[in-house]
Amino acid sequence: MSTTRKTTVAHNSVQSILRPQFNHKEYGEFRLKMIAEESRLETFKTWVFDDSKRCNKAKLAEAGFYFTGSKTEPDVVTCFLCSKILDGWEEDDDPWEEHINHADYCEFAKLRKPIKKITFEQLLDLQKSVMLDSAEKIADVWKKNVADCINFITQKAHVSKK
Ligand SMILES: [Zn+2]
Repeated sequence: MSTTRKTTVAHNSVQSILRPQFNHKEYGEFRLKMIAEESRLETFKTWVFDDSKRCNKAKLAEAGFYFTGSKTEPDVVTCFLCSKILDGWEEDDDPWEEHINHADYCEFAKLRKPIKKITFEQLLDLQKSVMLDSAEKIADVWKKNVADCINFITQKAHVSKK
């Protein structure tokens, strides 16, 4: 096999690894969308407690959470800003209180105000933080992807030397 041909094979395989399963654009857009309280509320197709309970889906959405659970884990939520994942909810829990107790660094939990009650400047700050955080997460995925790629190339190089 010629050197040129070997390069082409490696190049194609590298491309298939570099093509991430993770959709950067979709992820970024989703994160921005979750800033809106009504978008977060829409993610709750079902919830473990009904609306009369203190820990209801509207209150969870107000406190910054969107639903990330499943059939087997029906009470998992994630914060749109700090990405804190919380589960094990009790019907009398106050979502705001739990948020600040488990993520005292969260700028949204610290505000303790529904999105519609914050100032325009505060909203801009939240948007900026979400974008920066999304960019960091996307960069992490990309870095891992590149590392996998380098591993692959290194292994191939090793094999072809044999
Ligand atoms: Zn948070």
